[in-house]
Amino acid sequence: ESKPEPEEKDSKPPPLAGANVMNVIVVAAECAPWVKTGGLGDVASALPRALARRGHRVMVVVPHYGDYPEAQPTGIYKWYNVAGQDMEVSYFQGYIDGVDFVFIDNYIFRDLPNNNIYGGDRLEVLKRMVLFCKAAIEVPWHVPCGGVCYGDGNLVFIANDWHTALLPVYLKAYYRDNGLMSYTRSVLVIHNVAHQGRGSVDDFHLVGLPDHYVDLFKLYDPVGGEHFNIFTAGLKTADRIVTVSHGYAWEVKTQEGGWGLHNIINENDWKLRGIVNGIDTKEWSPELDIHFKSDGYTNYSLNTLTTGKPQCKAALQRELGLPVRKDVPLIGFIGRLDHQKGVDLIAEAMPWMVSQDLQLVMLGTGRADLENMLRQFEGQYRDKVRGWVGFSVKTAHRITAGADVILMPSRFEPCGLNQLYAMRYGTIPVVHAVGGLRDTVQPFDPFNERGLGWTFDSADSGRLIHALGNCLWTYRDYKKSWEGIQRRGMMQDLSWDNAAQQYEEVLVAAKYQW
Ligand code: ADP
Repeated sequence: ESKPEPEEKDSKPPPLAGANVMNVIVVAAECAPWVKTGGLGDVASALPRALARRGHRVMVVVPHYGDYPEAQPTGIYKWYNVAGQDMEVSYFQGYIDGVDFVFIDNYIFRDLPNNNIYGGDRLEVLKRMVLFCKAAIEVPWHVPCGGVCYGDGNLVFIANDWHTALLPVYLKAYYRDNGLMSYTRSVLVIHNVAHQGRGSVDDFHLVGLPDHYVDLFKLYDPVGGEHFNIFTAGLKTADRIVTVSHGYAWEVKTQEGGWGLHNIINENDWKLRGIVNGIDTKEWSPELDIHFKSDGYTNYSLNTLTTGKPQCKAALQRELGLPVRKDVPLIGFIGRLDHQKGVDLIAEAMPWMVSQDLQLVMLGTGRADLENMLRQFEGQYRDKVRGWVGFSVKTAHRITAGADVILMPSRFEPCGLNQLYAMRYGTIPVVHAVGGLRDTVQPFDPFNERGLGWTFDSADSGRLIHALGNCLWTYRDYKKSWEGIQRRGMMQDLSWDNAAQQYEEVLVAAKYQW
């Protein structure tokens, strides 16, 4: 079976929800700006706002990991039993941009070392997610928002990744099996199938479900043998499944891309749909970017691209202590330092890269060996390379504007946001053509002056060098083509409004179960 072609983008503004107005509760383990480790945090923040703009009543439920000024105590306390222990939860809330935010407070979410929300021993993480899902599913009954509880009328939960994959299961076991919340639906979004909440079958006693539910969680695969798998149970139980791109919807059904879940996903293919993430166009806009107000950066638009962007590039070079040169191509990388992101491919390509007249700026945190590698490259190639180990949103924005090229050699990439941000800023992506990268970066076609960047079709440093070489050649010798790619990238509608309309179609389909 061949890969489906990415869908054409529709640039018409979407009509509002109209008769399909619903109550939507998005439940996620992270949500920007309070807590974010990756794309999930961005989605949990932006999708709800976009759904609210379409006329839905929308809530986000997220753990209360720290003290958030926007979160006010409601004075509502409830007890939940987790693995034999009674735990008291209090609910906090805030109302921002037309969305109700509800924060689940308990000491187990607080003061996690290094703010590492997925850290700790396997069972501790599992208990956190059990408590979170148990408390979240009761929010529509306990927490009045604007004075009125959501209740179960016209209600859809959107759960995200394995962390909240228990939510559809609890909806069924605690309510629907008992004739309650019969019209409530659940959608489970796969942001990354590689993390699944795997454990031993004994873990089942921790999740607090009737005995016969154990089979839902059992998965056999050659790597783990028979094991306990939370994502599996969620995928089977949810009314609909969404992945964060079309390409990824295809990949999770393959042996390589499904990480052991491909059979389950194939069996549930009828309820699967790929929807490419949008971006927060207020936060990620070269015209409005708040991180460009100092240090020589400047806001720019399509009209001021040829002056504004070079000014940001010079500011970035100056800030990082690189030679300030307009003509040298500046290549950026931003992301988690791990196997998925293909940082090792950049390392393999490094001898070739430093033999070129270019500058390379890498920003990331993650695996200790890869962090050290970044530092080492910087030490070794002071006049060309910067390896910034750290998580800095400001620096991410500045690199996105100051770089000419953004490099994403990810081995797999469910959606990928940096290529989308880059294109908005007139920065050209060079990417491994997988998942969302393949959906969103149409390769440059020099004969017809079409396309948005360069792609390579296997995770291999030779291919990366080939693609980047073509890109640099165009940068140097074909300025008109380069500017054309920049402008096409900037003119796209990458907002959440289109994506939200597609989510709405999924919600409506779930509601009427067609
Ligand atoms: P993933 O969710 O797999 O980490 P995405 O591309 O979907 O990848 O989202 C990553 C998000 O995290 C982007 O918004 C990116 O800018 C941000 N990010 C990743 N690493 C860093 C970092 N070191 N500093 C600042 N932002 C980062």
